[in-house]
Amino acid sequence: MEKLDKCPLCHHQGIKKQYQIIDRFQSSHRYSLYSCDSCSVIFTNPRPKKEEIKKHYHYDEYTSHQSKKRSVFDYIYGIIQRRNERHKWNKLKKYINNGGTHLDYGAGIGKWVDYLSIKNVNAEGYEPIAINNHKKITSDFNKLIYKQYTTISLWHVLEHVHEINDRVEQLSNMLTSEGRLIIALPNHDSYDSQYFKKYWVAWDVPRHLYHWNKDSIQKYMKQKGFILDSIYPLPFDAYYISFLSYNLKNKNIFNSIRAVVLGWISNRKAKKTQNYSSNIYVFKKL
Ligand SMILES: [Zn+2]
Repeated sequence: MEKLDKCPLCHHQGIKKQYQIIDRFQSSHRYSLYSCDSCSVIFTNPRPKKEEIKKHYHYDEYTSHQSKKRSVFDYIYGIIQRRNERHKWNKLKKYINNGGTHLDYGAGIGKWVDYLSIKNVNAEGYEPIAINNHKKITSDFNKLIYKQYTTISLWHVLEHVHEINDRVEQLSNMLTSEGRLIIALPNHDSYDSQYFKKYWVAWDVPRHLYHWNKDSIQKYMKQKGFILDSIYPLPFDAYYISFLSYNLKNKNIFNSIRAVVLGWISNRKAKKTQNYSSNIYVFKKL
């Protein structure tokens, strides 16, 4: 573990302890969240070192990395995931469908790369822990750094990156001047976050090293030379996160129904505020 005595993003020394959060895979393990007085990011502290983080990924439970269907839950998750991809495409095609090349950073097993390929977009992926031999996905980032992309996506990935400042700068260099950086993140200002508090599974400690809201991510990206172009919801996340959060709090056969209700309320409330459970932020260069 490494203990941080300053903000990992802006290096400000004014930080304070805020909450204690349970690891959703090991409920006996708790992690502290700190906030930065300057850039207002919340971060996990102490956090596992880069070399240690692997043991905190339980791949059999980390559904985004699964390729085989197992339970009813996985089956439903598969249907939702496909609808989610369609939703992402409908919102983002005006940026992505431009004749250039798209990079999916943290591509998992390549579902988004495959989806874009079907849409005739030239897409490739980077995944540090490549677990299948996907032709368009590499685990060697150095192979990509001299390439130019018109769009780069990070689907629930930026919150996992240890050397975040270096990485965002590299991605910025790999993006054309008119390019767009598409970042999806959980939002701790969402209704479901406020409702579940320490049981909100999207804190996902210690795997999530940083926790943003709408303001703090814009502040951070501004430091890195980006300005917000647009913001879109990921409405399915409210249901999924609510279901897992209810289960973490207390296993109950009615949790799926309760999650549908709570997810609906969360999305409904977010219509005015844009404080969805997760948001997609589209950034352009300043
Ligand atoms: Zn800071």
